[in-house]
Amino acid sequence: MTDNSTNKDLDNKNSKHKERMQAVKEKVDQRIDDAQEERGLLIVITGNGKGKSTSGFGTIARAVGHGLNAAVVQYIKGTWACGERSLLENAGVSFDVMATGFTWNTQDKTQDIAAAQKVWQRSKALLKDKNVDVLLLDELTYMLAYKYIDLDEVINALNNRPVNQHVIITGRACHRAIIDLADTVSEVKSVKHAFDNGIKAQKGIDW
Ligand code: ATP
Ligand code: MG
Repeated sequence: MTDNSTNKDLDNKNSKHKERMQAVKEKVDQRIDDAQEERGLLIVITGNGKGKSTSGFGTIARAVGHGLNAAVVQYIKGTWACGERSLLENAGVSFDVMATGFTWNTQDKTQDIAAAQKVWQRSKALLKDKNVDVLLLDELTYMLAYKYIDLDEVINALNNRPVNQHVIITGRACHRAIIDLADTVSEVKSVKHAFDNGIKAQKGIDW
């Protein structure tokens, strides 16, 4: 093949690529133009893979970076305080933590229900607060699965929250009704996890 025909081939490929990208750009621009609604979102991060809570906290950090008001409620907490707490509390984010540890550690259902109800009352107050722009309800899904908190009450509080308030719910096995209500749902799939190979939870990575 001569140098000339190679150049022609390249030119051809480039112009085809440009045409395709132009068509993609038009479609993307149209979709951006069409998306005009602005309101608070309900986001669910569920599934068995690692990355749900870190995603929720990442969104809180993103919001705080824009000067928004954010709050975190943590349902179920292990024995270690998560690293995000000290960072975000210093940035003015309020934290409420169930602080009972995992159910398989406490083994006391009455105490767990009381603790869940206490942070749920706090969550309800935050879900009415117009000053809260973004609220993370970390591991709320388990409270619904165990029926420690009433599903209808949660749906009602979510439906009646301030119109511009964003809420993020994390945890495995999210109830179908919450998924149906949500605007954005991501399911994190576990491909592999270090723990399966006997590696301990690592500070700064796992909590
Ligand atoms: P992270 O807080 O790291 O984003 P997560 O919120 O997705 O994790 P959880 O189910 O809340 O996951 O579990 C919290 C802890 O369990 C973390 O220390 C995490 O690394 C670990 N973990 C998450 N997924 C798995 C898994 N598939 N196998 C074993 N351990 C896991
Ligand atoms: Mg989590």
